[in-house]
Amino acid sequence: MAKKRDYYEILGVDRGAAADEIKKAYRKLAIKFHPDKNPDDPTAEDKFKEAAEAYSVLSDDSKRQRYDQFGHAGVGGAGAGAGGFSGGGFSMDDIFSQFGDIFGDSSPFGDIFGRAGGGNGRRVRRGSDLRIKLKLNLEEVANGVEKKIKVKRHVTCNTCGGNGAKHGTALTNCNSCNGTGQVRKVVSTMLGQMVSTSTCPTCNGDGKIISERCDSCAGEGRLLQDDLITLNIPGGVAEGMQLSMSGKGNVPSRGGVAGDLLIVIEEEEDAQLKRDGNNIVFDMHLSFIDATLGTSVEIPTIDGKARITVESGTQAGKILRLKGKGIKDINGYGKGDQLVHINVWTPQQLSSDERETLESLRHSPNFQPKPGKNEKGFFDKMKDFFH
Ligand SMILES: [Zn+2]
Ligand SMILES: [Zn+2]
Repeated sequence: MAKKRDYYEILGVDRGAAADEIKKAYRKLAIKFHPDKNPDDPTAEDKFKEAAEAYSVLSDDSKRQRYDQFGHAGVGGAGAGAGGFSGGGFSMDDIFSQFGDIFGDSSPFGDIFGRAGGGNGRRVRRGSDLRIKLKLNLEEVANGVEKKIKVKRHVTCNTCGGNGAKHGTALTNCNSCNGTGQVRKVVSTMLGQMVSTSTCPTCNGDGKIISERCDSCAGEGRLLQDDLITLNIPGGVAEGMQLSMSGKGNVPSRGGVAGDLLIVIEEEEDAQLKRDGNNIVFDMHLSFIDATLGTSVEIPTIDGKARITVESGTQAGKILRLKGKGIKDINGYGKGDQLVHINVWTPQQLSSDERETLESLRHSPNFQPKPGKNEKGFFDKMKDFFH
């Protein structure tokens, strides 16, 4: 898997760059690498797409925030293994739909930034995105899960096939724009006369007009209904992370590309196990007698109960590691571990008999602390731990 470049690096701005700076940087790159202006440079289109993708994330406050926090994985760039979620793969349609943003809807660049490949200049309409929240328990977060959920979304009307005309009859060309969907006019600017194109008001940019409407959808070309969608959530997702499933959002009215389904992850807290990155942490409390004599204890893990052995003479603060019992890495770098923190419980109430027994042991040589003999100090332990 090729490593994706950092979005800030692509646009050549620093991480604190203001929205304006980002826009300016992207505009410069879009003009420089536009494929029509670089017919002899096959890498130009890739650079053009790369810049467009970077801009689409960094120009959106919430996407940018997730990117800053989680990197490419936070904005659906988890790549292979994410099963069904679109990572990169920015299409030319996505890019041209951005130009309204950065160049204005009827820009003097109209012709330069017409659809590459000699299309008729009509924009492909894109439906709106849908956003849902998905609550997952720790086990689902750790191993990934398949979930079937019902989503109310606009889907293509089957009766007319989405064009909104009765029984799907052919649409007629719009007279105002001769079916191009755009009207052109010459405007005078400081730089001289320029041709400006804008969306045809008669057909709304479709280039076509419906003569008789479809009965099922009243000419909308789409219907609102419950759709059962299967989500394949990869292991290792985290609270606030957003996954996107392309084409599972709303279909726009009268044909076009469906928006995306955005899935925002919520992590359910576990009563006993805590998450620390890809590791699971469990706080275990032992009586000082169990810690002294050794014992065997059943503890919870994300895959159910497990029995572990506590050796005699175990000190408080010791960390036991259950390898591979943690959370799958979202980028496929293996699995975390479960760490069992050992706490030794000191009795707070004693009967007089108990007190007497302990009192008799107080000065016994074996009960005197001898740190450094068998037990490593805290810093040595940490060193081992990170080794
Ligand atoms: Zn219909
Ligand atoms: Zn028209």
